[in-house]
Amino acid sequence: MIRLVCSKLVLFVAVGSALAPHAWADGETPPGRDPKQPVDERYTEKIHKYTTEPVFTSPLVDYLPASNNVPTPQAVLGDIAGAPGILPYAEDVYRYMRLLEKATPRVKVYSIGKTEEGREMIAVAVSSEENLKNLEENRARLSKLADPRTIKLDDAEADKLVAEAVPIYYITGTIHSPETGAPTALMELAYRLAVDESPYIKEIRDGTITLITPVVEVDGRDRMVDVYKWHLAHPKQFYPWLVYWGKYVAHDNNRDAMGVTLKLTENVLNTYVNWKAQVLHDLHESVPYLYDNTIGDEPYNAWIDPILADEWQVIGWNNVSAMTKFGMPGVFAHGDFDTWSPGYLMFIAALHNGISRLYETFGNGGADTEERTLEPEEYARTWYRQNPPLPKVLWSQRDNNNYEETGLLTSLHFFTENRQRFLKNFYLKAKRSTMKPSEEGPAAYVLPGDDLRPGLQAEVLHALQRQAVEISRSRSAFTVTLPAKKAKEPAKGKDKREEKSEPPAPTTREFPAGSYIIRMDQPYSRIADALLDHQYWSPDDPQKTPYDDTGWTFGELFHVQVARVTDRRVLEVAMDRVTELHAPGGVKGEGALFAINNNAEPALAALRYKLKDAAIEAAEEPFESSGKKFNRGSFLVRNLSRADLDRAAAELGVQVTALSAPPAVKTHPVRAARIAFVHTWLSTQAEGWWRIALDKLAIPYDYMSTQAIAKTTDLRAKYDVILFPPVGYNAGVNAVVNGIPTAWGNPLPWKNTPETPNLVGKNDSTDDLRPGLGWEGVAHLQEFVARGGVLLTATDTSSLALSLGFADGISTQNPSKMKIVGSVVGTRLVDEASPIAYGYDEKVAAYCDNGPIFSLSSIAGQRGRRRLGAQMHARPTGRGSLDDPDFAVGRPEVAAPEEPKSEVWESPPVLAEQQRNGFRVIPPSLRPRVIFRYADAKDLLVSGLVEGGDEIAEHPAVVDAPSGKGHVVLFSINPVYRGETWGTYAMVLNTILNFDKLNAGRKDVAQ
Ligand SMILES: [Zn+2]
Repeated sequence: MIRLVCSKLVLFVAVGSALAPHAWADGETPPGRDPKQPVDERYTEKIHKYTTEPVFTSPLVDYLPASNNVPTPQAVLGDIAGAPGILPYAEDVYRYMRLLEKATPRVKVYSIGKTEEGREMIAVAVSSEENLKNLEENRARLSKLADPRTIKLDDAEADKLVAEAVPIYYITGTIHSPETGAPTALMELAYRLAVDESPYIKEIRDGTITLITPVVEVDGRDRMVDVYKWHLAHPKQFYPWLVYWGKYVAHDNNRDAMGVTLKLTENVLNTYVNWKAQVLHDLHESVPYLYDNTIGDEPYNAWIDPILADEWQVIGWNNVSAMTKFGMPGVFAHGDFDTWSPGYLMFIAALHNGISRLYETFGNGGADTEERTLEPEEYARTWYRQNPPLPKVLWSQRDNNNYEETGLLTSLHFFTENRQRFLKNFYLKAKRSTMKPSEEGPAAYVLPGDDLRPGLQAEVLHALQRQAVEISRSRSAFTVTLPAKKAKEPAKGKDKREEKSEPPAPTTREFPAGSYIIRMDQPYSRIADALLDHQYWSPDDPQKTPYDDTGWTFGELFHVQVARVTDRRVLEVAMDRVTELHAPGGVKGEGALFAINNNAEPALAALRYKLKDAAIEAAEEPFESSGKKFNRGSFLVRNLSRADLDRAAAELGVQVTALSAPPAVKTHPVRAARIAFVHTWLSTQAEGWWRIALDKLAIPYDYMSTQAIAKTTDLRAKYDVILFPPVGYNAGVNAVVNGIPTAWGNPLPWKNTPETPNLVGKNDSTDDLRPGLGWEGVAHLQEFVARGGVLLTATDTSSLALSLGFADGISTQNPSKMKIVGSVVGTRLVDEASPIAYGYDEKVAAYCDNGPIFSLSSIAGQRGRRRLGAQMHARPTGRGSLDDPDFAVGRPEVAAPEEPKSEVWESPPVLAEQQRNGFRVIPPSLRPRVIFRYADAKDLLVSGLVEGGDEIAEHPAVVDAPSGKGHVVLFSINPVYRGETWGTYAMVLNTILNFDKLNAGRKDVAQ
């Protein structure tokens, strides 16, 4: 209403002077400028000019205090923060922060590491001169609160420290590159915190150290600025979408806080932990206008301290309330975000005894001022959004910056006012984490010293180390008591007396010397507990749309043993802290032939590629030699000096046994296959996790787009294996083959130009993002397989390959009720003789996100049916009992021929009727070969949510389909995902190493 009658300038004055004293008349410090401090008039004028509605600002940010010596963001930007048309590169943001550092003792800039592409990440500390001078003393105090063992859990001592310590509030900006507003908001925020003499800001400056990483995804920021500059240079044209953010992943860079695979996660985590910060507050943009999603919705993560749940509410609601007092519409908390998964960047704080926070603000994906129209549900008033956003507005980047800064300043002020409470909570959460064994359990997790997969075990432990978790190793063998398993309920309908048995007794388990013990009496026990425990998401949970993965249990996904131990005697075991952690490797024994047991560890593939010239063979059967048992697929290495092998094996953590005599076992060569790695221009994220996995193992590949496949004739001459990892977004034939329509619009280049110097980086380029694989590309892939190549696909690219007719005898079904949302599921080994299965046991856990559901058929061109087991052939109504045959009256009984039976995952036997003139019957040797299948319905759920799992239970999970002279290997699970699924990597690597011998062990094929 007001805005109809008032000019903007008049209203700003009204908001600043009239509203504030009314709302803050109860002894709190009112927000707003100090009338004694001059205002930077020109800057302030522009703030007003670029703010599109008077209600989109607050008395905290509707002016800029002037300073004689400290430069404003204009010094670097050439205009004010949030000005239209201006999006600074990370280095410009850094340049400004370093100008601040030079100009005022209230700002210090720290380098916190590099990105994958070598760009710097920084953290900027802003506080009073006094606080920054005493940083180290303060850090010492915070360190004691962070690790209460150092003060013997003495609460009185903690109170003293709390009274003296200055807390740290860590803000991170622009992890999601198309969400562009945070860097300029944070530049201006740093200026305000350093310069403003108003009591409100001064209290923050004196009471808190604000730590700021203005750009988290630095590689992606520079690309985004390039795209925006290209857009400004070609204002009438469509601009390219941001197909790459960081080197490897896009939006998922904010889902890496479990595996800590990306540099940005590692750098933020280390900064958070080393500074002993109390809050990690991550800035995003999506929904209007400011959504504090940290309170979110249920289910809450089950491993956080409940004190944190309270802190979320307290801070979140205060934030909403403070901004509501300013009259700013569209500020809300709750909403549909659940806090179950600990994969988000800000969740680093939640499971390291701090407070995790996240804002979604509103942005235009660039610095244009644009008219924005909202969906009805976005502007609806709800119980948690009393003053909703407006249905249609003109929105500017300055509006965005006003909201971000106002939200952060009110949060910082509330946090500062209550700093003793939050510091005390910080201590209490650390103390309660340390007391976990006695207060809530478990006492420890144990990773046995005799695990078959020491390399994978080391990967789990490295992940925990990256999380700052302490790891110990037992000096001798020890035994713990395991709790009694719950007595099984007697089956329904059975007589209870018949089933009467002894109540289950507790059992014991012995662990060998050298077992790893993750003690739960340490300050960061909660993150270890969250990663190693199992998850259960009830299908009846009121939350029907999980925000992200529902299961992640690291022991399962890394295919190593992890024991949850509640017996507190485990803490008395003689043990040593381990800091250097490396799987043992090297050559033992005497002889000129070397054997390496295969336990499906990825390091074997790394070794194959590292030793390019060695002759390596795989045993097609298990064998015994020199008193040792070797699994199928074990390596036999010849023509290599012991010293060279020893060096490589030690480095990779591979154990080698020298044999005195060659074993009598059938072998085939294991070759370092030439790999092409295909990506689309639609999305590079899901495949990015595959790239990072191969890069970590130093397995080389040619990275090429679907467009390059379309242009490359004779792929088979250049490559042995083509990996086509998942695309994401359910990309089907139309999207992948046809790409984005080119019948209209302009080419969307992804290449380096004067306006876009950072776009390509170390990734791929194209003149136009739009064309897809094309039918030429399809033909090239088909020819590649026909001529003996191996095409490996997973999830949506498996469906794509089947839609394109790359393999016969296998089809996919759409689930009807099934809901498996990023869960850990059970799979079972079906064909242990297949090279794809080398080194695996019967049970393997895998990551699954709703399929696809594969079914086999023995008839070419026929879709396999989804089969639901025994109930398919229930007997009809008739005489007798369930197990009796029916009969027809008036004639002798005729026995029906025995129906051929087959398992759900198998190709159904060919019926006699189908054999008649059976030109469509696929010969057995050409039928798809199932390597792994999904577990039975009752064993399908390992961790997370499985609803309607019987639709996929027992169906094939990994299939090797012969095609021409080659193979299409199709995964329904995603074997390579977010650095969390190391246990299934070897399924892919085995396929690569044995590309020309995938039929090994196949009973129906002449070898
Ligand atoms: Zn985001």
